[in-house]
Amino acid sequence: MRVRFWGTRGSIATPGAATLRFGGNTSCVEVVTDSGRRIILDCGTGARALGMELMTRAPKPVRATLLLGHTHWDHIQGFPFFAPLFVPDNEFTICAPSGVGHSLAGVLAGQMEFTYFPVALDQLPARIEFKDLTEGTYDLDSVRVTTQFLNHPAMSLAYRIEADGAVLVYACDHEPFATSLWRAGARPGFVESIVHGGDRRHALFMRHADLLIHDAQYTPQEYPAKKNWGHSTYEYAIELAAAADVRQLALTHHDPTHDDAFLERLESSARQLARSRNFSLHVFCAYEGCELEVQAPRTDRSRSVAVASAGSASPDRLRILVVDDDPNLRLLVESTLRREGYEVLEAEDGEQGLERVRSARPHLVLLDVNMPRMDGITVLQHLRGQERTRNIPVLMLTVQDNEAATRAAFDAGANDYLAKPFTIPQLSARVRACLDRWAGQRKTQAALAGGQT
Ligand SMILES: [Zn+2]
Ligand SMILES: [Zn+2]
Repeated sequence: MRVRFWGTRGSIATPGAATLRFGGNTSCVEVVTDSGRRIILDCGTGARALGMELMTRAPKPVRATLLLGHTHWDHIQGFPFFAPLFVPDNEFTICAPSGVGHSLAGVLAGQMEFTYFPVALDQLPARIEFKDLTEGTYDLDSVRVTTQFLNHPAMSLAYRIEADGAVLVYACDHEPFATSLWRAGARPGFVESIVHGGDRRHALFMRHADLLIHDAQYTPQEYPAKKNWGHSTYEYAIELAAAADVRQLALTHHDPTHDDAFLERLESSARQLARSRNFSLHVFCAYEGCELEVQAPRTDRSRSVAVASAGSASPDRLRILVVDDDPNLRLLVESTLRREGYEVLEAEDGEQGLERVRSARPHLVLLDVNMPRMDGITVLQHLRGQERTRNIPVLMLTVQDNEAATRAAFDAGANDYLAKPFTIPQLSARVRACLDRWAGQRKTQAALAGGQT
């Protein structure tokens, strides 16, 4: 398949003399398979120039599948300016994770209300189909596409595209789940040695990719001040890619403050890092206009990854128990999740929490690590030790930079964690991801048992 970058900038378009080499347009990548199937990854401002080119060069009518990682502005602002949408008979399937309480069509229509744009979404002449995605594997226009949630303060998906025997993985915007990547005493460089289950899944998702396009907005020096903003460093992307046997890594979603000279230095530091660790990975900074052919290697190993197809967990009827001794935090979590349609139960210490899990059987438990009358880790050990509560998903609430507590939580069987202080979008996205994944596992178990899904 052929890949071309039309927008490589993160956050906001950054045109000007200082960004001519790497480009100032926001995220947009075009993929064309050998059989002519066209996939467009993200629709940032780079999509405008792509649209113009498709109008002149592509076979008519223009057909494409648009895969949006999420609907933050830098990934959708080119959409209203994508010219092929204004031509009848052109056909598009637009896919993205749905926002909380909004359909994908509703979110895209929002940025095209008359206050912001003269043409409404439903006035576009092209034929458009919308697909709300969750984790799973899909057949999109005869191309196998697998999705997995990213760690970002919005519901965001990574895409794995398998076509012509080659594998392309697109993962923007994403932040490391844990501050330190490798288990203490373990041999770094192996997926099995990764501390956090989230980072391990992320590495497995990109395994054996011929090209990985990954968020690398920050340098390792900048990252501590930008923690929780939902983006990665080149170091993280390189370490994971090497552990996952990726062949080529394109660093992208460049920070708006990084001009060409800065990105050239960043690229050489990234290559230096890969060399110093003896990685055979080819690393480069993606630039606007960069075009490459992604080919399958000569080996014939099977390179598909399996992601359990997640059922979308509708908030209605889902019970979430929040166990925390801080009444302000309980209030914040309760009001946020109730507004989204969940039923929320509370407990103010570990003993009460354990009791409420046993009596109310919630679908998800948010469990504070430090609490009076039984700490969170002990509660979790009790839950995991009993048949009735063993499989209830638990999202630990930890304190930022407390690696020891995070590690202990995973060892005790936590499914995920959220470090305090967190923002409301982070809370919403993490809860949705946990519940969707749980719904997917139930679906798989039911299918395996021959029951109804
Ligand atoms: Zn972004
Ligand atoms: Zn974003």
